Amino acid sequence: AQRRAAHAERMQALGQLAGGIAHDFNNVLQAVQGGASLIERRPDDPDGVRRLARMVLEATGRGVTVTRRLLSFARRDELRAEPVEAGALLAGLCEVLTHTLGDGVRCSTEAPPGLPALLADKGQLETVLVNLATNARDAMPEGGTLRFVAAAETVTPDAPHPLGLAPGGYVRVAVSDTGTGMDAATLARVSEPFFTTKPEGRGTGLGLSMARGFAEQSGGAMAVESAPGHGTTVTLWLPEADIPSPMPAARPEAVRPAQA
Ligand code: ADP
Repeated sequence: AQRRAAHAERMQALGQLAGGIAHDFNNVLQAVQGGASLIERRPDDPDGVRRLARMVLEATGRGVTVTRRLLSFARRDELRAEPVEAGALLAGLCEVLTHTLGDGVRCSTEAPPGLPALLADKGQLETVLVNLATNARDAMPEGGTLRFVAAAETVTPDAPHPLGLAPGGYVRVAVSDTGTGMDAATLARVSEPFFTTKPEGRGTGLGLSMARGFAEQSGGAMAVESAPGHGTTVTLWLPEADIPSPMPAARPEAVRPAQA
């Protein structure tokens, strides 16, 4: 019954997705069509042609962003899970993001020594984290701090987990910003496909729905906490990879999940 409900939810999400695609693509095609027909009409005005060509390029760039995100949404069934060291992944990402997120946005990472590897599609995880970081940057126009915090968490069989996580070991990755935050009405809708509050052409509304789909497909979950003026934290729970740790001494038996 749970699987059927998940399927129905996914079909509904795909329906919303299809409607959104038609809308987004129409905008892109209109911009390309308009730009090209204006260029055709005045080929002797190099400045004008250059400006119109830039407009066409920007529109096609938006189209590429939408298709890329759509493809990762559609390919959710083809995730290739592998053990991922979250600490190393986040530190590397932070370094790249410091250069790409722009002035005034600091990035920091925190991961405890001996953190178990998580099990997920590494490329998809990176894409999801970059999308979350982009959202964080967009929420901090005056600058601020983007923080990645990884930690181990065990879900025990004695109480149902509020997010429906099955008992076992998880690696929790929290992405926090010190940005604008969201009001309750926005927060309630964030993981709907194509829900965006960003101006036309800036947001596709797929970032968080994709992140949630990825986490659930990987056997984990996602949660979003936010308060206006206090920033936002998006947390992903991903299952722990069941492999021997390279540093057994750093993983005391006491914090290991009980094997059912
Ligand atoms: P997009 O970023 O393309 O709008 P998302 O699904 O990633 O799509 O986000 C949906 C909406 O959720 C955003 O338009 C924004 O209103 C809100 N949101 C997401 N992340 C944050 C954040 N870190 N801070 C504030 N608002 C956010």
